Amino acid sequence: MADLRENYHHVNAQIRAAEMQAGRASGSVNLIAVGKLHPASSIRKLASCGQRAFAENFVQEAIGKQRELADLDLEWHFIGSIQSNKTRQIANSFSWVHSVDRYRIARRLSEQRSAELPPLNVCLQLNLQAEKTKSGLSEEEAFELLMQTAELPCIAIRGFMIVPKPSADPDEQRTVFARVRKLLEQANAQGHSLDSLSMGMTDDLEQAILEGSTHVRIGTALFGPRPSKI
Ligand SMILES: *Cc1c(COP(=O)(O)O)cnc(C)c1O
Repeated sequence: MADLRENYHHVNAQIRAAEMQAGRASGSVNLIAVGKLHPASSIRKLASCGQRAFAENFVQEAIGKQRELADLDLEWHFIGSIQSNKTRQIANSFSWVHSVDRYRIARRLSEQRSAELPPLNVCLQLNLQAEKTKSGLSEEEAFELLMQTAELPCIAIRGFMIVPKPSADPDEQRTVFARVRKLLEQANAQGHSLDSLSMGMTDDLEQAILEGSTHVRIGTALFGPRPSKI
């Protein structure tokens, strides 16, 4: 418990320092705690420190934790790969989905989102380094999907998400994040109204914030190393 609380304060301090260095308003970056493979009890502890936004990668695991934590007022983000047979659960159990990279999935999420809920917030996942093992869109594909999804009534496209290739070089990290920011500016210049950049993880959150990240997704720095199996 002491550790989690310490980690929480440390990560928040890191975020505030990076905001200041970037000349951005304090609180302009949202911290999303990534709980994959960590038990619901750890999420509960972090929530007791004041954390409200949590992200999960696997649908079944996420739904189980949401049930266990139903007494808390948490905001849930989905950041994992999406199979079409899971879209109904994802559409109705999360406030945000950061990992959409196909029209078919976007359309299903919109069709299956309950009309009683506010529109589902969606980020389009980019893969700007052409990594074959990762999902995500190229710049051209991202613009095409932005056009295609503009009319879907029950999702709100908010911006872009990226998981860059791991790099120990801060300049290299920053270059990738800068490309994502420019893409968002370009899209808005063409009439879209995107306001979110989901980028920055434990090892590169400062670089992401310097390039305009609005949502950092942090697992390890908060919860420690992930157990390999739940
Ligand atoms: C696991 C994961 C994270 C968190 O990564 P850490 O390096 O542990 O902070 C962030 N985003 C996505 C998409 C992830 O899968």
